[in-house]
Amino acid sequence: MQAIELNDKIFYPDDESAAMTFVVDCMLGKLAKWLKILGFDAVYSSRAGDDELLRLAQKEGRALLTRDTGLAAKARGVKCLLLRSQRWQDQVREVLDDFNLRGEVVPYSRCLACNAGLKPLPRTSAKNLVAPFVYEYAGGFSICPSCGRVYWPGTHFHDMESRLKDIIGDKDAGKKGLL
Ligand SMILES: [Zn+2]
Repeated sequence: MQAIELNDKIFYPDDESAAMTFVVDCMLGKLAKWLKILGFDAVYSSRAGDDELLRLAQKEGRALLTRDTGLAAKARGVKCLLLRSQRWQDQVREVLDDFNLRGEVVPYSRCLACNAGLKPLPRTSAKNLVAPFVYEYAGGFSICPSCGRVYWPGTHFHDMESRLKDIIGDKDAGKKGLL
């Protein structure tokens, strides 16, 4: 069982069906990871070809995120954002701004491994799933219903918080109770 440490404040999306979802082009793995950290459903494969990406976008109503002008030109009938920036931090900002998603950010609500929405895990249920010292110090736990990974508040807290603060800004972060 692999477990991942997260922030001490974990939020859960109220209504996943209404949320914006994405399919992310192969070269943009870091963007996909951070969209998931911010709580967005972002499908990513390092091996998916153009046709596969377009098919998935169409079939599941996902917005395609790419830096490839050739792929963007082929994206007829699907939502597509052609990213300008090379830096993942700026790419995240481009996505949030272009789709007006700053109010939809729900950090630490999604499994970083398989993209599923996390569920609260009662403390008693967590006891046998994490190391004893983690069980002692962690304030709360979440579990991925898909792969079973357990998440809890941890030492990555400060690093992630400052990066998030940098990306989405003080005002928006505060509004969601992030900081
Ligand atoms: Zn998972």
